[in-house]
Amino acid sequence: MLNSALNVVQLLEKNGFKAYIVGGFVRDYLLGISATDVDICTSAKPKEIMNIFKQTLLPKEDYGSVNVIYRKKVFQITTFRKEINYSDYRHPEEIKYIDSLEEDLLRRDFTINTICIDKDGKTIDILGGIKDLDKKIIRTVGNSYDKFHDDPLRILRAIRFATNLDFELSDEVLDAIKENKHLLKNISYDRKKQELDKILLSKNAKRGINLLIKFGLDKDLEISNLGDVVILDSLVGMWALLDIPKNTYSFSNSEKKQINDIKQAMKLDNLDSYNLYKYGLYANGIAGVIKGISRSKITSNYHSLYIHSRKDIEITSYDIMNMLGIEPGPKINKIYEKLEKEILKGNLKNNKEDIFKYCLENFSSDI
Ligand code: ATP
Ligand code: MG
Repeated sequence: MLNSALNVVQLLEKNGFKAYIVGGFVRDYLLGISATDVDICTSAKPKEIMNIFKQTLLPKEDYGSVNVIYRKKVFQITTFRKEINYSDYRHPEEIKYIDSLEEDLLRRDFTINTICIDKDGKTIDILGGIKDLDKKIIRTVGNSYDKFHDDPLRILRAIRFATNLDFELSDEVLDAIKENKHLLKNISYDRKKQELDKILLSKNAKRGINLLIKFGLDKDLEISNLGDVVILDSLVGMWALLDIPKNTYSFSNSEKKQINDIKQAMKLDNLDSYNLYKYGLYANGIAGVIKGISRSKITSNYHSLYIHSRKDIEITSYDIMNMLGIEPGPKINKIYEKLEKEILKGNLKNNKEDIFKYCLENFSSDI
């Protein structure tokens, strides 16, 4: 990854621009952590970047950044810039392209995120990031109060880095978090969720959660039971346990279904065949971990179910309609539910003949 990133930097330099690898990749590289996400900063403007590289994408939100695909890898290339006036706590009012690396580094959040690698692979550390990496401390670039006031998301980023890297927060950062945490309400739930996800997924998540609670950020983040969350290897599992107001943090449809299934499974017996069938192994497994039910018991009960989905039933909805002479409609679903329950209980064998017989005996009269 480093070699490809250096090639991208060298290509920009060959075209007469200044360019450096910067940010998380350099930080993690110096700490011996492998990272796949590479940020590059350059004096080239977006149009100039797009003239140099064949495959480029313009990210929707991040003005002044171009994603370049080079040797099948994505590099986020950002023009040196200065950000002016954070009036809405979200986006700078104006971005001014500049020609100076040093000035670009000054707009960044933490010293450990300002270390660069140049075209020759040499480390460039203008703001003392390496010293802070060695001391394992998170310090802002310049005044912490202003950094957090301008973009309160940086509060969560500070906690995310302290959590993931197991670093301390400087005293100035600690004070500035307390003074600005109320501004988190102005930040979009999506941006906050991205940082929270990274904290929850960390091997050191417990410390991250403790830090959030210590600062009272759980209240600013509108999560009322953060202290009760159980650390799981499932992110949706943890979100399912968190109490959050409706229409705030957003989830994809499949995440929503998983969260709902886990919530239901939490209330039920996770060894019961119908519950295992209805809410699946994943949701019951997570509910089981939280309740201390043996994982292997849940898994073996699940695997010994007679059916795992409606598709496994040896009869189709057409068969049912033909046999009983009924039209498509909610009745079919009711019949299926009854068949599922009886098959799962072992009262009804899952074969065409037995199911036909059962249907004729039980459903023909009331149609
Ligand atoms: P990672 O990629 O590991 O999540 P990162 O530090 O690379 O962490 P990115 O979000 O990729 O974080 O941002 C790249 C760099 O841009 C950061 O290292 C930092 O220098 C700067 N940066 C990102 N977000 C902000 C912000 N909200 N305020 C100031 N600088 C930021
Ligand atoms: Mg990055």
